[in-house]
Amino acid sequence: MLGDRPPPGVRAIAEIIQSPASPRDGVTARPWGTTYRLMVDVKKLKQRVCEAVDRRAAELIETADWIHAHPEIGHQEVEASKRLAGMLETNGIPVEMGTAGMATAFKAELGDNKHERPRVAILAEYDALPGLGHGCGHNLIGTSAIGAGLALKEVVPELPGSIWVLGTPAEESAAPNSGGKVHMVNAGIFNDVDAAIMFHPGTETAVTLDRSLAARGFEFYFHGRAAHAAGAPEEGINALDAVVLMYNAISVLRQQVRSDVRIHGIILSGGAAANIIPDYAAIRYRTRADDSEYLEEVVQRVVACAEGAARATGCKLEWNEYMPGYENTMPNKVLLELMTANLRSIGVTVNNERRRSGRGSTDFGNVSRRVPGIEARIAITDVLETPGHSVEFREAAGSDQGRQAMLVAAKGLAMTAVDLLTNPDYLKKARAVFDEDLLRSRGVTSRELRRNA
Ligand SMILES: [Zn+2]
Ligand SMILES: [Zn+2]
Repeated sequence: MLGDRPPPGVRAIAEIIQSPASPRDGVTARPWGTTYRLMVDVKKLKQRVCEAVDRRAAELIETADWIHAHPEIGHQEVEASKRLAGMLETNGIPVEMGTAGMATAFKAELGDNKHERPRVAILAEYDALPGLGHGCGHNLIGTSAIGAGLALKEVVPELPGSIWVLGTPAEESAAPNSGGKVHMVNAGIFNDVDAAIMFHPGTETAVTLDRSLAARGFEFYFHGRAAHAAGAPEEGINALDAVVLMYNAISVLRQQVRSDVRIHGIILSGGAAANIIPDYAAIRYRTRADDSEYLEEVVQRVVACAEGAARATGCKLEWNEYMPGYENTMPNKVLLELMTANLRSIGVTVNNERRRSGRGSTDFGNVSRRVPGIEARIAITDVLETPGHSVEFREAAGSDQGRQAMLVAAKGLAMTAVDLLTNPDYLKKARAVFDEDLLRSRGVTSRELRRNA
């Protein structure tokens, strides 16, 4: 509920715009049910959260560096989650560990008015990549969210509504059962959230409407029959042949789908010895597309390739979606504009025309299709071509530019939360844009939207 009464916590800094009722506790409001606007000194609140981030800079950098030096992969981020949650707890913010049944997830509630809506969620990630460490810079994401949370703690008694800092594990799809945010969405965590914001390190500072790719992951298991490969091949049913046929069928399929589609895989098992007809072989694919709707069509065709390969070879097919699907992100324009303005207000050059193409997938997609959301990218290197998930990107995530980007992100997140909680119009507009974007993603045209408006 976006109330039209001033919250009890808002004091002295309130100022009336329209005709007055009686002043009370420094808050002047028109009678219940009529429209009034409450002006809090937003500028001052933002200044205070930025100063708070600066005051804690050393502590935040130390934590970011520590996590960078001690990478843990998805669902095993025991030390990172403990450190991040610990920073909140030592500053008097209660933290629940094990959110949505995940040991390394957490939920921290800020302020005395913790049960109040509206509620803004600031999302932390802290998982690393196997063999590469923090090649995606999640050490900076985690600390930026904590930095924003600690800064907001200082002003939250003066804000209507509440803030959650959510520790979301296993964003990288490299870990089994990854997609911490998907699990949280499925557990209903975001039913109690009005907007979700986060930061991701990048090679450009840009807050854009560019969508991440929707992604799903499948494993296909072919069961055949073993036989002596020379002595009695006619007795065998070759499971490796099924995998090879499927691999080739997918290669052919790639040309007949939209250019935004990505289908990429690895062979998990291809037999035990060359003199045995393999009775078992398996292959894993990730499938991606610009939107979840088209991806569903692609998935049907990928499964058909597997079924065809099984039929051609006589194998029995089993398949499994081995991780939750990541939906495409649906960046919210209203949140985008707030975040951009806030970053610019502290002197950050934000270029919302991205110069570099290439997209991945994120479990933030699922969040952004449940509640209005935005993920801001802030450059941690000047080398535009630096690929994500690389040694160079990992080095950037541990560099001084990376650390500064994290602090800037903490400020941007905190300031945007201040905006969202002090002006209910922003959340109303963000929600309206969200509803429209969702209808559009389901194929409702602009004309239909206008007709129903
Ligand atoms: Zn990544
Ligand atoms: Zn990442």
